[in-house]
Amino acid sequence: MRFKRKINKNNEDKDNGKNSIKSVLADEDGNFSIIASSLLLIGFLLLSIIVLNIAIEERNESHEIISSNNYQYVMNDYIRNLPILEREALEELSEEVMKNKRPCLDSKSDLKEIVDGKLSDYNKQYYDNYNIQINSSLIAIENTSNPFSYKFKTYIRSVKGDYSFENIASSDVDCIGLKDPVPLLYCKSYHGLSLNDTDYNYGDSLSEFLKSNGVENYSFYINASSPLIIKKCPFDPYKHHGDDNGKVMKNCRDNGYYHESRDGACYLCRLEGKSGCEHYGFETFINPQKTNETGRVSACGSDHVIFSDDIYPGVEVIYYSENGLNEILYLDPHGHKVKYGMSGF
Ligand SMILES: [Zn+2]
Ligand SMILES: [Zn+2]
Repeated sequence: MRFKRKINKNNEDKDNGKNSIKSVLADEDGNFSIIASSLLLIGFLLLSIIVLNIAIEERNESHEIISSNNYQYVMNDYIRNLPILEREALEELSEEVMKNKRPCLDSKSDLKEIVDGKLSDYNKQYYDNYNIQINSSLIAIENTSNPFSYKFKTYIRSVKGDYSFENIASSDVDCIGLKDPVPLLYCKSYHGLSLNDTDYNYGDSLSEFLKSNGVENYSFYINASSPLIIKKCPFDPYKHHGDDNGKVMKNCRDNGYYHESRDGACYLCRLEGKSGCEHYGFETFINPQKTNETGRVSACGSDHVIFSDDIYPGVEVIYYSENGLNEILYLDPHGHKVKYGMSGF
């Protein structure tokens, strides 16, 4: 009807132009506002529902974020403590070797046993304190380009409620400050070996050991000494040991430092009673007793030479003299003398 009326009106007002269109709009105003308000109301309701839903979801989500952040924080803390735990295990193994005077058959597998035991206690603590279930174990110990440091790899899987976490954590574990068991393991059956907090004092043990290995001037190592504690020599490059008239070497020997060496054993192989190994390792020197004699020759004083099946000779190198007594090393002229910058001595 309205449509019709509109046509009539259009016909009637054919000549009135703009005025007739205006009146049509005015006529429909009532219906139009009802529809518009309804649409607006529906829109508003829909919007409210959406907004409310989002708000609820956000609340749940933020709750989840807080609990997952907390979980992540606890797991990060767990991983941060692994190097400490693993270093403790290395020290325990080292102390065991020293105490029993017996080398490990397989230091990596012994170490894994100790670390896994510690991890299991550690995981129990995390379950008791945080209700997080953790399974972890040491899966690899790798030598690195730094012979004083190993890479320990630990597999970790943990679960808390809906969350789970899986990771292989890498820790740097070093042997600095631990005891070197090599002299003890080689000389234990010879009389006279003793040790204090910092050094081995060989008494007659080393000379007897050298004698039984066919070294001619074995007696030059009576009352020799060598370091007990692994300390990395800071005088690098090593050819500076001869600097300042030998005072650098004097400082090095007074402190009992160890040096990187391809021929010397790494720490884990030392725990197996080896003085040399296929890994990049380190060496230290055996210091003969101070002497007033000169020009002597005996076994080369690098520990991987002295404690080996192939002991070769070294010439006397005097790096310090006081009151007529010389502090010396026996070094092979073309190897260790050159490496440590002692060729002029
Ligand atoms: Zn040094
Ligand atoms: Zn090794």
